[in-house]
Order: sequence, then C-alpha cells, then structure tokens
Amino acid sequence: MKCPKCRSERGFIERRPNGDATCWECYYIGKPEGFYRKTNFDVIVENPEVLAEGMVSNNNGMWEFRWHNIAVIRMKSREVAVAMAIEYLKQEV
Ligand SMILES: [Zn+2]
Repeated sequence: MKCPKCRSERGFIERRPNGDATCWECYYIGKPEGFYRKTNFDVIVENPEVLAEGMVSNNNGMWEFRWHNIAVIRMKSREVAVAMAIEYLKQEV
C-alpha cells in the first residue's frame, strides 16, 4: 500500500466512521482505494523503455535525451536516440 501523495509505504491510519485513511508520513487523507492508485511518476518511470520513449524530444532537428538541461544523447534518428537512451539508463554508474 502506497500513499498517492508522498509515495510512502510506511502505513496509514484508518479513520472511523467514514473509512478514510491517513498517511503516517504526510498526513494525506483519502479513501483507502486511493492509496493503491498509480501516480504520474509511477507511469513515467515504470521502466527505462517507457522513460526513454517519453523523454526523447526534437530540438532543432536533432533527437535529444536531456537531463538537467544537458543533451546526454543527440542523434538524427529518433529510433536511435531512444535505443541509446535506454542503454544509457541501464548503464551502471
Ligand atoms: Zn503520504
């Protein structure tokens, strides 16, 4: 069970009588079902393929994968840029 606001998995307090749950960490209050919901963050970083596909964008005719305003990858072909971005994300540091 994950808090949809702070993503904490530490737990929640169930309140009576309305059944709402409160996050231990950030005190977010919501329906218990809401604590299972995916956030945009969960969708964006689901795996390197999804992240690379979504982050590669065209800048002055070149396909770039940017991080902190630095073009880590810059290619003429979108497919190549995405493939290289996936490899980059999987690289050990
Ligand atoms: Zn929370």
